[in-house]
Amino acid sequence: IYILGIESSCDDTSAAVIRNGYLLSNITASQAVHKAYGGVVPELASRAHQQNIVPVVDQALKQAGITKEQLSAITVTLGPGLMGSLHVGVSFAKGLATSLGIPLIEANHLQGHILAHFILTEGEELRVPPFPYLCLMVSGGNSQIVKVNAYNDMEMLGQTIDDAAGEAMDKCSKVMGFGYPGGPIIDKLARQGNPNAYTFAKPHIAGLDYSFSGLKTSFLYFLRDETKKDPNFVEHHKEDLAASLEKTIIDILMKKLTQAVKETGITEVALSGGVSANTALREAFKTRQDNKQWSIYIPKFGYTTDNAAMIAITGYYKYLDKDFCPIDKPAYSRTTL
Ligand code: ATP
Ligand code: FE
Repeated sequence: IYILGIESSCDDTSAAVIRNGYLLSNITASQAVHKAYGGVVPELASRAHQQNIVPVVDQALKQAGITKEQLSAITVTLGPGLMGSLHVGVSFAKGLATSLGIPLIEANHLQGHILAHFILTEGEELRVPPFPYLCLMVSGGNSQIVKVNAYNDMEMLGQTIDDAAGEAMDKCSKVMGFGYPGGPIIDKLARQGNPNAYTFAKPHIAGLDYSFSGLKTSFLYFLRDETKKDPNFVEHHKEDLAASLEKTIIDILMKKLTQAVKETGITEVALSGGVSANTALREAFKTRQDNKQWSIYIPKFGYTTDNAAMIAITGYYKYLDKDFCPIDKPAYSRTTL
């Protein structure tokens, strides 16, 4: 079984090929155009996807050593994401599947992030989470705690009611005058800083939901007040600011996750999404394992942010269930799992 996966929901154009559940290729074209704007510009993203989609798919097939006629099915991210970006991948996938006479499979982008733990290459021994397990899915647009019962059966236990964790990093990075995306910049600075230098507002939200907009505002006001006293405050304290902000975000994430472990009694806990690349968050997970509290699963660094390998593996398990997508199903910008 050969599955081609296509991902174009945000600013990465990516294609991957999986044979019988094992990854053969995973090619991603990232878009540098957005850096100058401090965030993704939807119209520019769609245009870049248009330029990248054909060469990226060609290269993925070439690296896998197969022709498109050998494909069993095509799986594509139908949502959530930017509509103009999604349309490029979805239209391409529909056209190719129709011309080859093979099934189209819908992938939910968030399900893809969660299933990144199951991306295997042949001959590799990988520890995969056993069902049911809990997954902290933290990315640029989402922050949620998910109970994963099976590849195609996931329950959302809690989610952010406003900003996502990655979005909070990106926005705070922007107000400090750093580049985009902010997550990796804050991660790097934080390693040299004191996480207890400053304290910022933490939300009081019932249940397993998250909120990050109050923290963002508290950070903004703090900078505004300090900059009045010292115009170069950020420059003088950027490491401590990054470390303290990062610690606050991680404390918020871990508190609700710990509560979810208590409530469900499930101690198999996975991390996924773009923010799972974060060094300190990974460390916080490792501490839980060292304390023998949880059994943890952290994705390979390369599968944390957007990639088509996670979409192809999602498609593979849906293919086994014969869970195909009607060719007229439209892309969607918002959804839950
Ligand atoms: P979604 O998946 O919710 O649709 P997205 O696809 O834009 O959103 P991802 O690609 O999964 O999001 O992740 C991007 C986010 O991850 C950005 O907010 C970025 O700042 C954050 N990120 C990436 N690397 C790190 C890191 N090392 N530390 C913290 N955050 C990081
Ligand atoms: Fe993503």
